[in-house]
Amino acid sequence: MYTLNNSIRDYAWGSKTLIADFLGHPPSGAPEAEMWIGAHPGAPSEAILDRGHIRLDKLIEADPEGLLGPDSHAAFGSTLPFLMKVLAAESPLSLQVHPTREQAAAGFAAEEALGLPKEAQTRNYKDPNHKPEMILALTDFEALCGFRPASETKAIFDALVTLFRETGAEIPEVLQEATSTLAGADDPSAIRQTFTGLIRGGDEVSCAVDAVAALLGSTIPEGPYTAALKTALDLSEAYPRDPGVLISLMLNRVSLRPGEAVYLPAGNIHAYLHGLGIEVMASSDNVLRGGLTAKHIDVDELLRTVDFTPLPVPRLAAASPAEGQRIWQPPFDEFQLQRIELEPGAPNIDLPAGLPALVLVASGSGVLETSLQTLELGKGDSAFAGAHESPVRLRAGSTEPLVAFVATTGIQEAMPHRRPAHPMTKAVTTPQA
Ligand SMILES: [Zn+2]
Repeated sequence: MYTLNNSIRDYAWGSKTLIADFLGHPPSGAPEAEMWIGAHPGAPSEAILDRGHIRLDKLIEADPEGLLGPDSHAAFGSTLPFLMKVLAAESPLSLQVHPTREQAAAGFAAEEALGLPKEAQTRNYKDPNHKPEMILALTDFEALCGFRPASETKAIFDALVTLFRETGAEIPEVLQEATSTLAGADDPSAIRQTFTGLIRGGDEVSCAVDAVAALLGSTIPEGPYTAALKTALDLSEAYPRDPGVLISLMLNRVSLRPGEAVYLPAGNIHAYLHGLGIEVMASSDNVLRGGLTAKHIDVDELLRTVDFTPLPVPRLAAASPAEGQRIWQPPFDEFQLQRIELEPGAPNIDLPAGLPALVLVASGSGVLETSLQTLELGKGDSAFAGAHESPVRLRAGSTEPLVAFVATTGIQEAMPHRRPAHPMTKAVTTPQA
């Protein structure tokens, strides 16, 4: 087992206080957007050794089968298949979508063949992997996630048209076209057509965004879509004239309470708006952006990647196999997330056997133990436990209750013959009220 040093990304949308408060560190003064815990070569954690330290990806490279275990190694190869982040959004992230594994592999190969440097502005694919993800809210957490049914988007756009009419302002052509498209075709083709019109719209769409922002600046009607309209107004202030403002109204507006989670499969268009959370994903950095950003937008590649099927909000329920333990298992094999809360003296909980694990202590202190080693972790500390070290026991330190997050692979269910079935639930999908 190794304690880890992790790097914090200073993306402009990051909070200046949330990650520092969560980890119990002094704030850096700069935005602290994401702390990466894992072995992605873009910002690998460092494993601390008796003398010096080593990048976690290099450590694993030296003994992939031992550190990852035969199941993970057989399923995902020689790299750690998941990445855990602490994510703190002060302002909205870009509207984005992640590719399937096939798209990512083809896109990565094509960009490598073109000789495009990985840090190039126009680069879409930084690695050949897909990036399904989940986020668990640690504070109230606001997001946009997946398309609403076309009928709901039409109802919102209709309400805007009515407001324009009431105030005597000119109704943007773009809105009228969208409402007739949304009324005239079935999901998902109406959604595709409307989205495409907005994202390709140029000046006409930008003027419509201006007009809608001015309208909402003077009045926001009370009703089922008030939160969505407020979000559109906020986005128009941060990203004036950006088509993403109108596109945001096509998406489910999601509010998570602490302890609630959603998962995001390939093709799901989403934007995190505000809040602190633990994010776990397949180890990848492949993002296609669709607005609300100053960064590169590749519209053609985006349109190939977005899934236009309207979806209920993919909320993820936790299983509670033991006192103090909750497990979120999204329908992906690469990862699962556990939250473990233990009082001093409470029975320990074993980390998943035969699999690699990342552990992050959120409060109190904890102790990781194998037959050979004891590792003490304080608030904000993190560790990597290799598969070959099982069994690894986690318990609270002697004085304070422990809250820890553990990320590991989700492959138990895919290979039940390898070991006793794991007590976990299927991902539960419920419609957003
Ligand atoms: Zn994402």
